[in-house]
Amino acid sequence: MTSAPVAPSVPLPDGRRIPQLGYGLFLVDPDVAYETTLQALKAGYRHLDAATRYENEEAVGAALRDSGIPREEVFVTTKLWTDRHEDVRGALEESLTRLGLDEVDLYLTHWAAPSQGLYVQAWRGIIAAREDGLTRSIGVCNHPLPQLREIIAATDVVPSVHQIELHPYFQQKELRAVHAELGIVTESWGPLGQGKQGLLEDPVLVRIAEARGATPAQVALAWQRAHGLVTFPKSVTPSRIVENLASLQIQLTADEVAQIDGLDRPDGRGGSDPADR
Ligand code: NAD
Repeated sequence: MTSAPVAPSVPLPDGRRIPQLGYGLFLVDPDVAYETTLQALKAGYRHLDAATRYENEEAVGAALRDSGIPREEVFVTTKLWTDRHEDVRGALEESLTRLGLDEVDLYLTHWAAPSQGLYVQAWRGIIAAREDGLTRSIGVCNHPLPQLREIIAATDVVPSVHQIELHPYFQQKELRAVHAELGIVTESWGPLGQGKQGLLEDPVLVRIAEARGATPAQVALAWQRAHGLVTFPKSVTPSRIVENLASLQIQLTADEVAQIDGLDRPDGRGGSDPADR
């Protein structure tokens, strides 16, 4: 095999950088997360997208240690679950213990959960956690626009990152335009459509993939990178872990990007609506 491709990184507004492609850990069973994370790191991934809710932080931390890769070379994210919006420091300290780390690279509110009404408090806690040196960068996931604006107005602190559902069938153009105005880096979850809606059988993706001797998943990931987005596909299948990383070798043309841009659908959301939680 040729040497592993290295993901390019993009700048965060706080002066740090984040690799554009990582390994996602949602629904990776704690019993297999050690092996798959180790495999991902050995394959060349240098960005891990974890969360307390995924219940696999211990396995992720162990794989990171056992990989022998210097800590500084891997960008580690974890997330605050909705039951701890009032105790961010305690929740993050527990995550760090499970991960076996002194600090993470990025800590995110997992859902705004507007019905709970504690997202501003959660954001204040995350800001304090950065001041206390428990995380280097900070951001949020799944904040509807009114809640995103509210946390910024309440604290004068703009998240470095907003992680949202984003794939060719659900392109979030409005939110991306707001992020561009505010200098927020967009992270895409579910970049392969979570295996739903037949995204990877879409004729446009299939046609571009066939023409390039690539797979539709690789084309979907190359499209994310072409837009400057950060993403972290999930797979527990060794060949797909490698396949997804190899998407870094594909540079789509402007015409191919435009064809995929045309796949956006008003009903393309596959996961739950952050406004409804
Ligand atoms: P995804 O779009 O990465 O899809 C994963 C599924 O796609 C796999 O289960 C597998 O069935 C399939 N797949 C993977 N590689 C493939 C390939 N090469 N060819 C064909 N099929 C393939 O969905 P995801 O895991 O939900 O999202 C990615 C990551 O985003 C997660 O693991 C997690 O880290 C993050 N995430 C965050 C949130 C959030 O609320 N913040 C929500 C969901 C996911």
